[in-house]
Amino acid sequence: MRRWGVSISPLCPLCNSENEIRQHLFFECGFSKEVWEAFCSAFHLSPPPLFMDVLDWIKAPSHDNNVNVMFKLVFQAVIYLLWKERNSRVHNLSSRPAASIILEIKRILSAKMDILSRAQRNVASSITYLSTWRVVFPSR
Ligand SMILES: [Zn+2]
Repeated sequence: MRRWGVSISPLCPLCNSENEIRQHLFFECGFSKEVWEAFCSAFHLSPPPLFMDVLDWIKAPSHDNNVNVMFKLVFQAVIYLLWKERNSRVHNLSSRPAASIILEIKRILSAKMDILSRAQRNVASSITYLSTWRVVFPSR
């Protein structure tokens, strides 16, 4: 947008300390790292640092197929909510802490795991997406 002549800050709206580029906004920003860490540590996963490498890695981040499906959904949710938070700060001048975004992602994905697990009814294994999710994120 700056190249088009729009007068906007070049700084990342999540931290206001580094230039806003894709690699920083989604992976290197302290705010984004806090969100990623909540999920990567829970799943015991270590994604590569570069965005393009993550796109390859996300195809099969684990040997557990349930984890692979769940983490792809985590990836989508984290990217979407980081972008939404960025836009909220730029356009609405409102912000939320990383902890609030982490909770929203957990709530959204817990509901999604419930839906996906119902589709697993006829699978012989009793290890559903939801049961795996509840092992990773025990709650209540
Ligand atoms: Zn930043």
